[in-house]
Amino acid sequence: MPIKQSEASPAATPTKTKKKIQGIRQRQMRITEKLGSGDDHKSWKDWFWQMRHAIRTVEQFETLSGIKFSQQEKDKLLKVTEKFPLSITPYYLSLIDTENYKTDPIFTQAFPSIEELNMDRCDILDPLSEDKDSPVPGITHRYPDRVLFHISNTCAMYCRHCTRKRKVGDMDTIPGRSAIKKGIAYIKANPRVRDVLLSGGDPFLLSDEYIDWILGELGKIDHVEVIRIGTRTPVVMPYRITEDLIKVLKKHHPVWINTHFNHPRELTSSSKEALARLADAGIPLGNQSVLLAGVNDCPRIMKRLVHLLVANRVRPYYLYQCDLSEGLSHFRTPVGKGIEIIESLIGHTSGFSVPTYVIDAPGGGGKIPVMPYYLISLSTNKVVLRNYEGVITTYQEPDSYKQYFCDRKCSTCDLQLNLDGGAEYNSEGIFKLLSDFDETIALTPEHNERHIRRRKAKKQRGNFDI
Ligand SMILES: *Cc1c(COP(=O)(O)O)cnc(C)c1O
Repeated sequence: MPIKQSEASPAATPTKTKKKIQGIRQRQMRITEKLGSGDDHKSWKDWFWQMRHAIRTVEQFETLSGIKFSQQEKDKLLKVTEKFPLSITPYYLSLIDTENYKTDPIFTQAFPSIEELNMDRCDILDPLSEDKDSPVPGITHRYPDRVLFHISNTCAMYCRHCTRKRKVGDMDTIPGRSAIKKGIAYIKANPRVRDVLLSGGDPFLLSDEYIDWILGELGKIDHVEVIRIGTRTPVVMPYRITEDLIKVLKKHHPVWINTHFNHPRELTSSSKEALARLADAGIPLGNQSVLLAGVNDCPRIMKRLVHLLVANRVRPYYLYQCDLSEGLSHFRTPVGKGIEIIESLIGHTSGFSVPTYVIDAPGGGGKIPVMPYYLISLSTNKVVLRNYEGVITTYQEPDSYKQYFCDRKCSTCDLQLNLDGGAEYNSEGIFKLLSDFDETIALTPEHNERHIRRRKAKKQRGNFDI
């Protein structure tokens, strides 16, 4: 059973790399042998084979990994998997360093922990209120111009840190065409939606034909300018990125893909090949990492990760603060850890290697970027800034900046911003407060006590203003 493929990312020294490659190769051989298929490397690289042989019980995991748990541990683990099921691809399993598995970042992301049963006082079942912001099943419409479209209910691997943990394993199904059509109809009826983000589950667990159909239907909608796909298959089952899939994706440009690497060890020769195929197809690639305790909560690990990503034509897009979903409390870090990581990247490495660190607001407020402070102070003609080295500097503001009053009458504006005559929507949020054409001077929370008092008093006075 010749296994030629090596699966290690470059490490500090060549001998270390060699040892790692040998380790992974040996584990792959052991796993395929134990799966009893007498398979050669061809089936290992077949994604249907990977899916058929996904590890779904602790016992299977023990047999294939050689790691043993005590009966007591197994009893506890069973309680976890009853609530949050287990599924690992043989490929991802082969990346686990079985000799040091307890602190292994691959193991931590794939294998259940009894800590998942801990309930934190801040845990919320659906922290991002995705269900509440869902106008039709499958669609989360949170932002003005883009929607999240859940087109698959299943994944190649069940990540232990999944934000949609509440749904994992519920329904390992692919929504039928009629369900998908309802989502498409919603998008069609909402001309402001110019960006559709296909998510799930993992959209790449759908068949090529089904993906082709969905992308085709979305492509027919004039106002949809771009389609994005979020997938973890390049990380947990890179063999899904087949030439046939590439052919389908290429037909529907512009397609952007965001993937989900969390640790440098996930960049193997197979995953790099998958990324290269996607990049060669002209698909801009981004990566969304989640900051996870015991996996990547370290500036050095994150720097190594972002460097490997850009070397493989993937732009680090977001670094997420771990959500408040149930069963994730042991993965959470303080926000300060994320700030420390960003501090270690900005200025210290290429600008395009630095992801935006975001906290997805509980309750559905969307992603909020958080940054170290660079703006130290300002006066009416000067700004005081600090750089990554700690140098404190000043920027002199222009003396002669002509202030424009903007009434949004672009046709008479000398800035020539009357772009395409397309519908102009009123601005929202803080930007609305900054604009001249909107008379709103304050945004007030719905249950502001002072305002409630004011309304009551007004009623008593019989609606006469003071
Ligand atoms: C993350 C997300 C998006 C996309 O946000 P971007 O900042 O444009 O990447 C859209 N809808 C929902 C509900 C999301 O959570």
